[in-house]
This record gives sequence, structure tokens and C-alpha cells, in this order.
Amino acid sequence: MGCRLEIPYSSFKSANDKPSRIDALKLPADMYVLPDMALADVPEWFILFGFCKCGYFRGINIKQTRAKFPPSSRTSELARFLHCKRCGCKGDNRFTFKQMLRD
Ligand SMILES: [Zn+2]
Repeated sequence: MGCRLEIPYSSFKSANDKPSRIDALKLPADMYVLPDMALADVPEWFILFGFCKCGYFRGINIKQTRAKFPPSSRTSELARFLHCKRCGCKGDNRFTFKQMLRD
């Protein structure tokens, strides 16, 4: 650890100061809640997931998402379209991400 290129996640914290229920969930160690940002600003090396408060998560095809929605779409808005296949929850899900390891 220490030599890996990382976005300083703490710098996003101020944009998200209201904790939601999903933030209380235990995410996998290398997974983070995606801060609200424009779709165009999601870094290429982020692997996106839709994450439900029931704990279910599933990979998001970012290329398809970019093709379907305008680049200025906010990720917080897009997250409303996420639909959980396990508990049926819609509208209260979040995007999470892992960072692709690069050499
Ligand atoms: Zn669910």
C-alpha cells in the first residue's frame, strides 16, 4: 500500500455530508460510495456498481450508461433508476465503485 494511485476520497466528503442509510452498510473493503458527479466526470478506471441497502450489488456497464444518458447527467439522478433484483427496491439505491488496478 501507499504507492497505489488513488483519488483522495476524503476530498469528496463535503459534497456528501448527509449520511444516508446505505452509508451505514459495510461495503467490501475496496468499494466506496460514488460521490455525486457528472456522468462525463466518472473516471475511466472506476468500476461502477449499483448498490442496494439490502446489500445486493451488481456491476454497471459504464459504456452503455454513457451511450444512453447525456454526459451532464448527475450520478445521484441516475442512481434513482437503479432497480434491485433481489429485494425489488427502486429509488433508494446508490452507485459504488472500485478502482481498477493499473500498472
Ligand atoms: Zn435490494
